[in-house]
Amino acid sequence: MNEIEISKQLSTIQDFDTGENIINSGRVQGINIYRENLNILISKRDSENDETLNDLKIKISKLFPNFKNIKFDIKTGDFKKSEITHLLNMSKLDEKEKKVDDKWNMDSHKLFWHLDRLEAWQKGERVAPLHIDMGISSGCNMACTFCYGVIQNRDGFGTNSKKIFHTPVKAVKQTFKDAKEIGVRSIALIGEGENTLHPDFYEIISYGKEIGLDLSLATNGIRIDHKKLDIILDSLKWIRFNISAGTKETFQKIHRVNQMDRVLGNAKALAQRKVEKKSSCVIGFQMVVTKENMNDIVPLSKLGKECGVDYFVVKPCSDTFDSRLDSPKGEYIEALNIFKEAEQYSTKSYTVNIKWKKVLNGGWKDYDSCHGTQFILGLSGRGDLFPCGHWFQERRDEFLMGNIIEKSFKEIWQSERYWEVQEKIRKEVNVNKHCESNCRQHYINRFLFHEGKKNMEQLKKDYKEHIDRKPDHINFI
Ligand code: SF4
Repeated sequence: MNEIEISKQLSTIQDFDTGENIINSGRVQGINIYRENLNILISKRDSENDETLNDLKIKISKLFPNFKNIKFDIKTGDFKKSEITHLLNMSKLDEKEKKVDDKWNMDSHKLFWHLDRLEAWQKGERVAPLHIDMGISSGCNMACTFCYGVIQNRDGFGTNSKKIFHTPVKAVKQTFKDAKEIGVRSIALIGEGENTLHPDFYEIISYGKEIGLDLSLATNGIRIDHKKLDIILDSLKWIRFNISAGTKETFQKIHRVNQMDRVLGNAKALAQRKVEKKSSCVIGFQMVVTKENMNDIVPLSKLGKECGVDYFVVKPCSDTFDSRLDSPKGEYIEALNIFKEAEQYSTKSYTVNIKWKKVLNGGWKDYDSCHGTQFILGLSGRGDLFPCGHWFQERRDEFLMGNIIEKSFKEIWQSERYWEVQEKIRKEVNVNKHCESNCRQHYINRFLFHEGKKNMEQLKKDYKEHIDRKPDHINFI
C-alpha cells in the first residue's frame, strides 16, 4: 500500500469536529510508510481533548490491519484545510499509469550497496563518511526564493552577492585526495553556492577525474563554457541543472534573473555533446516545488524531454524548522494529479521522477534521531565542515567541525571534535523541531532508524531482490 492509497482510505473517515473527511478537514497532515510501519501526523486543536482523538486513532488503526506498527504523532495548532477528495479518486489515471523506472533510486537511498560500512557502523566503529555534499564557492549569480543563502542573507548571496568567496584550489584538491584516502566514495559539488563561478572550476573537476573520484555537480546552468563541455562530461558522473520553472515568467519570479533561455540552451548543448561523444555522464533537471511553481511541473517535464536530458526530478521544498519558506504541505496532496501527469512524460531514455516519499509526509520525520550525518557530510563553500548543510548558518559554533583551509579534511575527520559534534547531533537534535524538513539525509535516516541495527544476514535476506537490482551511481548514496 502506498501513501496515495492510504490517503484514499483515510478520506472515508469523517472528522469528529467538522464532519468533513479527515483528509479534507486537514486533520491528517502527513503520512510516512516504512515497510510494515505506518506513521500518521495528526493535527490537534488546543481545545480538543485526548479522548476524542483516541477514538479517531482506533478508527484509523482498524482501517490498516496489514501494518504491524501504527504510530501517531500529534501536531498542535490550527488546521490546514484542503479540497482533495476529487483528486484522490484517480482510478482512471491509475489504469493507464506508466510505471516509472527509478533508475538512480532518487526516491530512496543507496546504503544497501555499502553494507561493509554499515556493518562497521553497527559495531560502533568511527566510520568514514561515504559521501560529501561540498561547496567550492559561497555565493551565487541567482537569488532563488527558496535558497537558504538568500533568506539568511549570507555573504555572496542575493543583495550580498559582491561578497562571494571561493575556496582555494589547493584546499579543494587536498580534500578530494583526503576523502578518497579515508574511504569517502563520492563527492557532489552541491549544497551551497554556484560552484561553476569558481575561477578554477574546470581544473578542479579535472583533478577529481585524475584521482578517480566519483564526482558530480548541481548548477544553476548559467555559466557553462561551451568550449569545455568535454571536460564536464569526462569528469562528472552526473550533472544536474537546478531549474524550477517551466515559463520565463515563473523563472523570473523564482530565480530572480532573466536567464531561462540561456540555461536551457546550455543544457541542450551539453546533452547534444553527450550524444556525439557517447558519454556516460548523466544529465538531469531538478525542480524544487514551492507554492509559486506547481503549475510549471508539467511544462518543465516537457522542456526536459525537448532538451534531451536524461531525467527530470521533482522535489518538495525543504522548509526551515519555523516554516520561514512557507513551503507547501497539504498543497502537495492537492497537486497529486499534476505530479501524476508529469510522470507520464517518462520514456525509456527520459525519466520524470517524483520524490513521492517526501511529497506526502507533510514535512514530518518518522524517526527520533539523526544518524545519517555519519554517512553524508556537508562542506560549505567557505571550507567549513558540518554534519549537514543545515548548520551552515544556524548554531554554527555548536556544530562546526573544522575548516579545510586551516586544517586538512583528514585531520578534521580524525579529531575528537568531529566525533563530539556527531554525538551531539545524535543525542541533542530534535529532528522535527530543530531541523529543516525533508533534508538530504532523510532517506538514510529513515533506513538507519527503522532497520539500521538489524542483523546483517537478515538484512541481506530481506532485501535480496532489491540488492540484486543494483541502480546506477551507487556511490552517490
Ligand atoms: S535530520 Fe537534522 S541534523 Fe540530521 S541531516 Fe537532517 S537537518 Fe541535518
